Amino acid sequence: MAACIFCKIIKGEIPSMKIFESDKVFAFLDIGPLSKGHSLIIPKHHGAKLTEIPDEQLSEILPVAKRIAKALDCPDYNVLQNNGRIAHQVVDHVHFHVIPKPNETEGLGISWPTREANKDELAKLLDEIKAKF
Ligand code: AMP
Ligand code: ZN
Repeated sequence: MAACIFCKIIKGEIPSMKIFESDKVFAFLDIGPLSKGHSLIIPKHHGAKLTEIPDEQLSEILPVAKRIAKALDCPDYNVLQNNGRIAHQVVDHVHFHVIPKPNETEGLGISWPTREANKDELAKLLDEIKAKF
């Protein structure tokens, strides 16, 4: 946590292009933007993955993402939150991206390799998930 780059940004030890700050969240421009206006919203509570963040620390994230999306004034955009290396997480402090999609080439590119689900397998999976939910 002491070495966490986003905790350092929250504390002001590393400069950032701050958009908004409250007691729970901090929002700033991404320094490696996928498109103009690419922004990040982070909880002030340190945790690497979404499941490590207390609910009350998450309550402002989507409202702030919505305000940023409106301020960016781009009709098409993605809200993204990566968890774990193979899920493309590089910084181990939970962050939500707001990424404008101004055209086909800029912004987030997504591979979406779907397959048709087997209904019986889906029903079994649903039972398993609901049992743990
Ligand atoms: P992810 O792949 O979801 O972990 O995304 C990490 C994001 O953090 C990338 O888009 C980086 O460009 C961004 N990033 C890393 N360091 C900084 C920084 N000091 N200020 C702003 N954005 C940063
Ligand atoms: Zn941190």
